[in-house]
Amino acid sequence: MRIVIIGGGIGGLTAALALRREGLEPVVYERAPALLEVGAAIAVWPNAFRVLERLGLGETLLARAGRIRSVRWLGRDGQEYKHFAFPETGAPAVALHRADLQGALLRALPAESIHLGKTFVGFEEAGEDVRALFDEETEVVCDVLVGADGLHSRVRARLLEDGEPVYHGYTVWRGVARLEHAALKPGTASEIYGAGQRFGVGLVGLGRTGWWATANEPEAVTESASEHATKLLRLFEGWCTPVRELIEATPPETILRNAAYDRPAAARWGVGRVTMLGDAAHPMTPNLGQGGCVAVEDAAVLARCLAKYKDPQVALRVYESRRRERAAAVASYSRRYGAFGQWRSRAATRLRARLLSSVPESVGRRLLSLVFDYDACAVEV
Ligand SMILES: Cc1cc2nc3c(=O)[nH]c(=O)nc-3n(C[C@H](O)[C@H](O)[C@H](O)COP(=O)(O)OP(=O)(O)OC[C@H]3O[C@@H](n4cnc5c(N)ncnc54)[C@H](O)[C@@H]3O)c2cc1C
Repeated sequence: MRIVIIGGGIGGLTAALALRREGLEPVVYERAPALLEVGAAIAVWPNAFRVLERLGLGETLLARAGRIRSVRWLGRDGQEYKHFAFPETGAPAVALHRADLQGALLRALPAESIHLGKTFVGFEEAGEDVRALFDEETEVVCDVLVGADGLHSRVRARLLEDGEPVYHGYTVWRGVARLEHAALKPGTASEIYGAGQRFGVGLVGLGRTGWWATANEPEAVTESASEHATKLLRLFEGWCTPVRELIEATPPETILRNAAYDRPAAARWGVGRVTMLGDAAHPMTPNLGQGGCVAVEDAAVLARCLAKYKDPQVALRVYESRRRERAAAVASYSRRYGAFGQWRSRAATRLRARLLSSVPESVGRRLLSLVFDYDACAVEV
């Protein structure tokens, strides 16, 4: 089966690896000339870690990651609202540098299965063939086309024509500091809440700390890369230690800025011999750190379906039917959690502090279990 994957992000690379483990030989086409992501940390939660472990990457990732065993919610003055341990799910939760995750996936794939510098522009179905069209008027004929081309997916635009993603009113910055501050508890991720702003922190292994910061602002606000650090220091002035220290210990040119987008759940992800996965299919706001993890789940289920069913169209429709509800549920949970986190008024922030302080740990653990317990390798296909 000739399988073409558009996009060499976490979803596309994991799909390529999962398909190879099933004995198939997919080829990835990526528009970037090189696959190296700077500046960002990524949380790999148990639902994704168990897939990556079965693909043979468990030890490699653990060697370069920080484990996360509990979460702390705090006010901007450092007052602790709640600290609770993660539920036991049989797989670890970790945070690591994105380049380490991407590097592990890349090294597990043959170099000739990834073509860089190829920009996908469209596709045509002709009988049992799909023609994937690229810039410079090149094309590749395949049996299955998988759009793993992210938030502004061209595969999606051609399939669904459903316009632009939805902006949720806040910006997210993130960085990796070369620092392990004494105020940070090993194994604990912290989320600090202010008025329309949040700051999240976790150790990402090898003496580094990943952080993210949010602030409410209109979609039209722009800023140059050189302005990120100065703006963040102003926005988070007076916040508890080590917010300022982490921003200052991050090389300014590596700070990334993204707007918080998602889309309403789509009723279909594919047609004929074409499908999607990851952000192309179900972009989600970053509040749960689950977008990449759910893409990893997609990859595992897609590979199992294509290995099981001879007819690619049957395989793709079974894959989509097994994944749509799960992805929509996580995206919705993330959207609501983000809206709550960005509450701004005095009354709302007081109420939030009370809610976060009073939520029973068992409820927190049960909510996390809903996301963490999912096993993409055990879903019936
Ligand atoms: C601030 C922030 C924090 C996050 N934190 C986490 C986290 O901790 N954990 C987590 O799991 N997720 C997290 N996410 C979400 C995660 O980054 C995404 O969900 C994930 O990267 C999606 O993977 P993907 O492969 O679907 O898409 P992408 O990673 O976007 O990859 C798409 C790829 O397709 C390529 N491409 C695009 N268009 C074309 C084209 N026309 N032709 C060829 N190639 C193309 C792109 O260059 C890119 O390499 C976060 C997101 C944000 C914004």
